[in-house]
Amino acid sequence: MTHSGKTVIVIGGGLAGLATATLLSDRGFQVTLIEQKHRLGGRTFSFQDRTTSDVVDNGQHILMGCYHYTLRWLKFLGQAQPTQTGRLIHIPFAAPHKKLSSLIIPVLPMPMHLLVGILRFKNLSFWERLLLIKAGLKLPFQHIPETISVDDWLKDLGQNENLKTYFWNPVCLAVMNESLQNASAKLFATALKHMFLVKGDYSRIIIPKTGLSELFVIPSEVLIRQNGGIVLLDREVDKIQLANDQITGITLNNKNLLQADVYVSAVPQSGFFNIIDKDIRDKHFQAMAVLRTSPIISIYVWLTGIQTDQLFHGSFIGCIHTKIQWIFKKSDSLLEITISGAVDMINRQREEIFELIVGELEILFADFKGSMVRHFLVIKERNATFSQPPDSGYHRPSCRTPIKNFYIAGDWTDTGLPATIEGAVKSAYTAVDHVCAEYLR
Ligand SMILES: Cc1cc2nc3c(=O)[nH]c(=O)nc-3n(C[C@H](O)[C@H](O)[C@H](O)COP(=O)(O)OP(=O)(O)OC[C@H]3O[C@@H](n4cnc5c(N)ncnc54)[C@H](O)[C@@H]3O)c2cc1C
Repeated sequence: MTHSGKTVIVIGGGLAGLATATLLSDRGFQVTLIEQKHRLGGRTFSFQDRTTSDVVDNGQHILMGCYHYTLRWLKFLGQAQPTQTGRLIHIPFAAPHKKLSSLIIPVLPMPMHLLVGILRFKNLSFWERLLLIKAGLKLPFQHIPETISVDDWLKDLGQNENLKTYFWNPVCLAVMNESLQNASAKLFATALKHMFLVKGDYSRIIIPKTGLSELFVIPSEVLIRQNGGIVLLDREVDKIQLANDQITGITLNNKNLLQADVYVSAVPQSGFFNIIDKDIRDKHFQAMAVLRTSPIISIYVWLTGIQTDQLFHGSFIGCIHTKIQWIFKKSDSLLEITISGAVDMINRQREEIFELIVGELEILFADFKGSMVRHFLVIKERNATFSQPPDSGYHRPSCRTPIKNFYIAGDWTDTGLPATIEGAVKSAYTAVDHVCAEYLR
């Protein structure tokens, strides 16, 4: 690594900020990373449960084979790539009082993997499977307007209610964290094409084997410091100072002024307007003010008297006709349960959410009893993802801004991807490319 002699301030220590800081420090920039919380990782972190001392994540995160930037960054960080061998996708499904089959996408060349997987998906009638294949065949050639929802798009494609219940709704919630009615069809279709119609291996589901902090956060912090960078925790950026369309410094909540040649904001959209003055916002960033967020609730359930393997086979299961969407096995005695797009649940009390989950587990699994729970933890992430309704594409900012030495990264920027780890890391690579092109000449 050679020193460029240039200084960079990265605001926000989520994955977008960490990726930006690690990559720029590797390119010889003197990096200062500023994070308002006492820990790094943003919406992707692990912590120790006080009762059991187990390390748990703030919610199950899954990666996919199509997470090109994320896997590239993990390799750069020296992390063994988290892999899942065997079939590309193997998702058993469960529903109350009903036996369901699994969705299994085999390792075959694209698009044979999809054709075979769908044709064997017995939760749909044969006719519905053909309708699904027809929709898949149309996908690469469709121009989908920014303004329509997934639900409207599916109507145009002739997809019926059963197809929505057993295929589209679970996929849409997993990919977009939004219901069919609220999700942008254009963004969803782009993500589907990327996942299923580029390379067979892109469809592979990857479940990290370690905690999220161990995977992403700790190696990033080590690397930044090794490269001579500075990581400031518990420091909130209060305001960006601007003169002549150029940033001259940032003030922290302790009133200190920090200065650098280049500034990268990697805060989420909700925090972005706190750090810029209203007149700058009105002048340059007004379009983004309408972006909202969508919640996810994660429930960890520690069991006694039964092993998780006795409930279902495989490492996770999708649930239909329930409030729960996914259940992951974290160990012999620990389950993680995910409720995506949890708009109607997020304001409920934790105990109430837990009672509801126990009721659903009892209906889903004959061997499960509420008395088998020895401890539980409900994690509410109100701002888990930015909301991605029709039209949201118009409001996502590009990395380069009208302010000369100021760039924006984060999953909510115009990556063309949904609010995901891959979006966050891709935005960082874009920011790094811009900064290097303009400051390493
Ligand atoms: C429960 C849950 C499950 C998820 N599941 C998946 C999944 O399965 N797959 C997937 O790909 N994605 C998933 N996601 C989404 C993924 O976590 C996010 O897209 C990604 O972490 C966003 O990273 P980011 O760096 O853009 O933003 P953030 O992680 O929000 O980072 C922004 C950082 O900026 C800091 N900050 C804000 N304001 C200031 C300020 N003024 N000064 C200093 N610092 C500031 C914040 O504290 C934060 O640390 C999930 C998210 C959640 C919450």
